[in-house]
Amino acid sequence: AAKTAGKRQWRHYHPELQSGMAERAKLQEGLDSSSIETSFMVLYQPIVELTSGRIVGFEALVRWPHSTRGMVLPEQFIRLAEESGQIVPLGAWVLDQAAAEAVRWEDSVLHHGTADRNAPYVSVNVSPRQFRDEDFPNVVRRALQLSGIEPSSLVLELTESVLMYNDERILAEMSSLTDLGVRFAIDDFGTGYSSLSYLREFPISILKIDKSFIDQLGRSPEQYALVEGITHLADTLGLTVIAEGVEDVRQQESLISMGCRLGQGYLFAEPVSAEEAQHLVLAPPLGRLAGMPAAPAEG
Ligand code: C2E
Ligand code: MG
Ligand code: MG
Ligand code: MG
Repeated sequence: AAKTAGKRQWRHYHPELQSGMAERAKLQEGLDSSSIETSFMVLYQPIVELTSGRIVGFEALVRWPHSTRGMVLPEQFIRLAEESGQIVPLGAWVLDQAAAEAVRWEDSVLHHGTADRNAPYVSVNVSPRQFRDEDFPNVVRRALQLSGIEPSSLVLELTESVLMYNDERILAEMSSLTDLGVRFAIDDFGTGYSSLSYLREFPISILKIDKSFIDQLGRSPEQYALVEGITHLADTLGLTVIAEGVEDVRQQESLISMGCRLGQGYLFAEPVSAEEAQHLVLAPPLGRLAGMPAAPAEG
């Protein structure tokens, strides 16, 4: 089942249990000396239509399966990889992996899908250092060419902080990629300290509402109003909203009632292996609301 893939067979690595600095240095060393292709893996978490549970996309999430540490999560090594600069080749590799998987999803849907199924897009996290690298637009174009993926099937997730300053070069680069059909999403929306003016200045298509807001949804009318406000803002600006970290049906129902169309979270699926994602592309919808008719069996 979707829930058991990727993560469960590995014990998670928690560095706070270890001895701070020394452990960090060892981790950095391991990171620097590791060959990217053989050391890392990419998992995929479905992004679904909240009312139907249909998969519209997958977010690519990198993992570092380590022989003695277990599965190292990105929280523990992305920052280190940013500091050493290794995030640049690592990020490019994740992008290539993700694009190659998206092509397989396109093929599956084309050859085995029903008429009402669209191929899922793939959404890739881009760290600030990687995004600011001068070669980044070429890395993206190369990934598109190598894989043959439709540019409209690629979403790049940025955080608010990288768009804090009005930067002509970055604006030009983003525009050249959006002209091809690539879309940009703002990740962890609502957690940055930037003004919202960047939403006007840069070509953004998608807002991903941070999990912390979704966690608080049921707490008070104010919390509900906050998420509803973000949803309406996005609507007005013509942006798509995705709720991150949807864990229960009540959150799902609240989000539907305020007009939020898309979500991602353990309620639907945890991040799964490429193989399992491939399987999910043709599987029935995920996490259907109780009481809704079951999807017809496929065969
Ligand atoms: P993110 O981009 O906001 O990704 C969502 C994170 O929330 C993922 O954690 C995902 O596994 C987790 N998540 C999703 N649904 C739920 C839920 O219902 N409940 C809970 N508790 N968690 C949920 P993950 O994979 O550990 O990634 C953490 C962060 O690391 C990501 O946050 C992203 O910022 C970064 N990251 C992951 N992969 C990459 C990568 O390839 N490149 C870069 N630069 N950053 C990455
Ligand atoms: Mg993300
Ligand atoms: Mg996020
Ligand atoms: Mg996050």
